[in-house]
Amino acid sequence: MLIIKNAHELVTCRSLESGPNAGKNFSTCSVIKNGALVVDGEKIVAVGKTENILARFKKKWASRIFDASGKIILPGFIDSHTHLVFAGSRAEEYRLKLKGQSYKSLHKKKGGIHFTVGETRRASEDELFFQAKDTLERMFRLGTTTVEIKSGYGLTPEDELKILRVIKRLKKTAKQDIVATFLGAHTVPLEYQNNRSAYLKLIIEKMLPVVWAKDLAEYCDVFCDPLGFTAGETTAIFSEARRLGFKLRIHAEQTAHFGGAAVAARYKAASADHCDFLNDSDIGYLKKSRIPVVLLPGVLLHLMEWKKIPYFQETVKKIKKADVALALATDYNPGSSPVISMKLVADLALRFFRMDYQECLNAVTINAAYALNRASEVGSIEPGKQADILIVDALSMKDYFHGPGDGKIDYVIKKGLMNKI
Ligand SMILES: [Zn+2]
Repeated sequence: MLIIKNAHELVTCRSLESGPNAGKNFSTCSVIKNGALVVDGEKIVAVGKTENILARFKKKWASRIFDASGKIILPGFIDSHTHLVFAGSRAEEYRLKLKGQSYKSLHKKKGGIHFTVGETRRASEDELFFQAKDTLERMFRLGTTTVEIKSGYGLTPEDELKILRVIKRLKKTAKQDIVATFLGAHTVPLEYQNNRSAYLKLIIEKMLPVVWAKDLAEYCDVFCDPLGFTAGETTAIFSEARRLGFKLRIHAEQTAHFGGAAVAARYKAASADHCDFLNDSDIGYLKKSRIPVVLLPGVLLHLMEWKKIPYFQETVKKIKKADVALALATDYNPGSSPVISMKLVADLALRFFRMDYQECLNAVTINAAYALNRASEVGSIEPGKQADILIVDALSMKDYFHGPGDGKIDYVIKKGLMNKI
């Protein structure tokens, strides 16, 4: 048994009502001053004020007592949106972007995602595995204890399966809990540019059944976008995916308003992600279907989309007012967001979206857990939940957020195991 005591602030991020912390609950992440907690095996068994915990749990029972004086304690971060398995560097493309070329023009010139697809198809399963394993290790040191990973840089049945097998290997070997998502509908590959209906058929008739039969993904995602698939095509993919048993996620309204949020609501997707062009009706649909929005501010930073920032500030206000839950994720990928740090993502949300400290913390923990249907196991510091906990070298949430990008993490505890960082 492990007792952690004297935390200056123990930030629990527990659900205040059933479901994510949305609306008026969004800005409360249930902080216990001079907090303590008890871990038994992989689970948290008690949380409270240090004096109460020490009175209830005799010190002699503890195999270890950790004094967290001068520290804050947070739940482990949950990254609900990554494209972590790929090959090839897009650093040269970024140099061109800095010189003024747009993401859309690079995409059309067979750069962008098509470049990554080519490199990923050429890479061996081992190459993909070891690169992704390194990334996950770096993410762990930055406090991410649960990670969703999408396929989507293969775009042939063989290459999508190759990526999903890599994700399965990562599931067995990584320190984090991994959630696998099939994203064969990431974009139409070059060889099908003049016959997109054939690629749609390939996804629906070949890829989805085999991925499901081999139990390689829990979720099916679609990039519903002018650069990806129409709302009609998304509907066709979702219908078959749902019939097979997949849960659904979606890239919605990223580079234009394209109807993805409405499809997400109709099909009760687990989350609607990106949402750069979300309108008032979309917010209404998402509210009605109780679907969390996942915002990805790393993309705004990397693509330098400063003009979108005032719009996002308005959208965040509307989302909060509508009681729609809001989560944050990295969207880690080689093109639009080579960002691995959930702390940095929260720092960006604080500054770009004007979210407060407590909102940012709810968005990277409990609300993100809901976006992945994992909230009964992770996302908050509560008795009965997995002991996924960060010990952070800061006196308060305020101090923690004052240095953007600085993780300040001393220990990452995963399933009760303490890792010194
Ligand atoms: Zn994405």
